[in-house]
Amino acid sequence: MRSKTFRPGQAVKVEHEDLLAKLKKSISEQLKGTIDITRVEFEGPIIVVYTRDAKIFAKDNQHARNIAHMVRRRVEIRADPSILDPPDRAKTAILKIIPNSAEVGNMYFDSTTGKVTIEAAMPGLAIGKNGTVLNAIRRKVGWVPEVVRISPIPSKTIDNIREYLRDVRDERIEILKKIGKMINRPSIRQDNWVRTIALGGYREVGRSCTLLNTRESKILVDVGMNNSTTGPDVSPYLYLSEVQPLSTIDAVVVTHAHLDHSGLVPALFMYGYDGPIYCTAPTRDLMSLLQVDSLKVFNAEGIKPLYRSEDIRGSIKHCITLDYGETVDVSPDIKLTLHNAGHILGSAIAHFHIGDGLYNIAITGDTKYEKTWLFDPAQTNFPRLEAALVEATYGGGNDIQPSRDGARENLKEIINTTIDRKGHILIPVFAVGRSQEVMLVLERLVRQNEIPEVPVYLDGMIWEATAIHTAYPEFLNRDLREAILKRNRNPFLSPIFKRVDSNEMREGIINDPASCIVLATSGMMNGGPVMEYFKNWADDPKNSMSFVGYQAEGTLGRRIQRGADEISLMERDKHLNIKIRMDVETTEGFSGHSDRKQLMRFVSNLNPRPSRILMFHGDEKKCIELGNAINRQLKIEVNVLHNLEGIRYR
Ligand SMILES: [Zn+2]
Repeated sequence: MRSKTFRPGQAVKVEHEDLLAKLKKSISEQLKGTIDITRVEFEGPIIVVYTRDAKIFAKDNQHARNIAHMVRRRVEIRADPSILDPPDRAKTAILKIIPNSAEVGNMYFDSTTGKVTIEAAMPGLAIGKNGTVLNAIRRKVGWVPEVVRISPIPSKTIDNIREYLRDVRDERIEILKKIGKMINRPSIRQDNWVRTIALGGYREVGRSCTLLNTRESKILVDVGMNNSTTGPDVSPYLYLSEVQPLSTIDAVVVTHAHLDHSGLVPALFMYGYDGPIYCTAPTRDLMSLLQVDSLKVFNAEGIKPLYRSEDIRGSIKHCITLDYGETVDVSPDIKLTLHNAGHILGSAIAHFHIGDGLYNIAITGDTKYEKTWLFDPAQTNFPRLEAALVEATYGGGNDIQPSRDGARENLKEIINTTIDRKGHILIPVFAVGRSQEVMLVLERLVRQNEIPEVPVYLDGMIWEATAIHTAYPEFLNRDLREAILKRNRNPFLSPIFKRVDSNEMREGIINDPASCIVLATSGMMNGGPVMEYFKNWADDPKNSMSFVGYQAEGTLGRRIQRGADEISLMERDKHLNIKIRMDVETTEGFSGHSDRKQLMRFVSNLNPRPSRILMFHGDEKKCIELGNAINRQLKIEVNVLHNLEGIRYR
């Protein structure tokens, strides 16, 4: 007879109400009955304590700290909604406290939670130094304020997500209660062990997925899809018995928005998962943008999509967003902290602190260990670290990228030469990451008079992705952050950038003889608006095209980059032959990935130094070459797993 297998989250039947009643009792005891606690609730990883004496807490943080110390969880104290001023009166009071210069927009009051969301163009001024303005609001009106930025470039994605989350507010409260209950279930605390299983993205690039598994918990880190294929290896090995049923997974962590890390997150909700998705706020927004777009592409190409648009909404509804450095409990024995990975907006290294100091693992996702025009280098300091899973995209011995200054000079040269001969410059780009880096370089070249001021047209999803970048300046590198927040100089708002928002406008640009620069998707020229410019401009030697990103084998971009002088495209069932007489260049150095040197430096600067490194997210050869180098030079034990292999750490 088969023994019953243990299923985390199901093994122990937790009486939710009992647990909360116990918590409430012990908190009241801790406060010696001096403060009136009306209700204690789980809200995802946070425990919320409602009280009629909220002003006492607002004056003195010590009570809140004592409670958090006692329950060993993050605690938020809120005024019991029954004692709060009605929203219209609270709004008037709040507007008197926040300085006008913060440019407050809408306010949304939630009478179930006692929270108010305040939109502001200058959130820093609405928050105040060290939160002074927020504290003043709490003391005066009792509502717990949360400030969100009105992005200077309006983003449809962000507006839709915020509106959707307001619409499903009540449902979300229930979801967060359930998640809190799961995190706070009684734990087994015996027979401790830690392992990971390679579910996708090992000895390959694409469909990244890792299962982190202990006696108590199961966490999935990234659930990506393989972009370059529609075959059987498009998705990670999610059908394994260790993963199924999906309702036994405690949490999903998404390191960043690229579809090879986030592409199948919505599909989880189609197949029975209904737990939390932990990621940064920009990752939530960017991955929704990319997922919606990928559904469109699937539909346009007549391929059966792997999930429905309602599953994207399901995933948004279950997102718990974290800032860098914020630590939360994601299961009874695992704490998660996200750290800057330097790769794209909101990209994170996921650090797991397991079993009260039993073991610590960092999973890098994609990293860039160099200060780029957009981001600070990936974080290498952790409180504790025994093992790290490190990406190896450019881990080969010869994978050395030119410097960013070199890239800038190269691009400048191409632009100046082309404008001199009155041509157009076409730059195929990925919407997220590379586009914004190129935009920053172009803005600076124009500002410093190193290239003539010609219009820079942005076509495809680039504009929307850029709008999302302007909503989260705190995730950009220090210089950019300071320029935007302190000196009010936002390079993304430069008037040289123009959005292409109609076919007529695109046609106008194509037929305008005046020089211009066009950034258009897709980055590897497998479709998208870039093709329209290319078809019309390719046969004129006055024009130039420069690749700035990786061109995968089998893509049109790769063929052109390799020097094809004629290509044939299918257009409405007809062959279209295009002669390539334009100048075709490649500007290297814009990569969002660490090159070999940066990867070696990243690993050797990890502090504390881990005793084990696993390689993933790289072709087999790159994983092995980088693994060997780390093992030889840094004397760290390295494992290069295949998909489906697992490793036990403790
Ligand atoms: Zn990536």
